Amino acid sequence: MSRAHTLMTDAMTAYMREVSLREPPLFARLREETGLLPLGNMQIGPEQGQFLALLVRLTGARKTLEVGVFTGYSSLSVATALPPGGRVVACDVSEEWTSVARRYWAEAGVADRIDLRLGPALDTLDGLLAAGEAGTFDFAFIDADKENYHEYYERALRLVRPGGLIAIDNVLWHGRVLEDPPQTGDTAAVQAFNRALHHDDRVWLSMVPVGDGITLALVK
Ligand code: CA
Repeated sequence: MSRAHTLMTDAMTAYMREVSLREPPLFARLREETGLLPLGNMQIGPEQGQFLALLVRLTGARKTLEVGVFTGYSSLSVATALPPGGRVVACDVSEEWTSVARRYWAEAGVADRIDLRLGPALDTLDGLLAAGEAGTFDFAFIDADKENYHEYYERALRLVRPGGLIAIDNVLWHGRVLEDPPQTGDTAAVQAFNRALHHDDRVWLSMVPVGDGITLALVK
């Protein structure tokens, strides 16, 4: 029997990594260190980092936004793919988690490309809009608290220029998007977010099942 899709078992994921992952040793060390933290499973998978880096190169992005830094694997992936002079505005609330990120950014030599804004991301994004930065970003990655996903997305839509790309993580929510009814507020938020984007005519859309699912929204 043939299928239109391939089931992504752990063995298949291991195979994909074996034949396509190009993870620098520094990145692997960050992933290892983060894996020891209580919330270590919040970090993106290495193939997702590689995917984000490819998207940045593909789009020629120079100015990027990140909502949800955690320990910095995604910002490290994006920052190292940027051209000279490129910049990441990175939002997070945690001094503790981002102190890990800052160590690795420094070691990778990209600390000067990353503008870390500690505080509630909605405030930071509203601040960027108030400062006249609407339409000035080429790329955004949203990977933070799910209940605010729609609010982050709406602001990213204004901050990213037409033709720019917004990538949103965890859109498959470890399979919990299938729950009916949803068992938590986070699950309900991801479900509502996915359905809202389905009919959002302001973007071109593709949901990609890499890692825990990344939606790509290309701003019209
Ligand atoms: Ca995530």
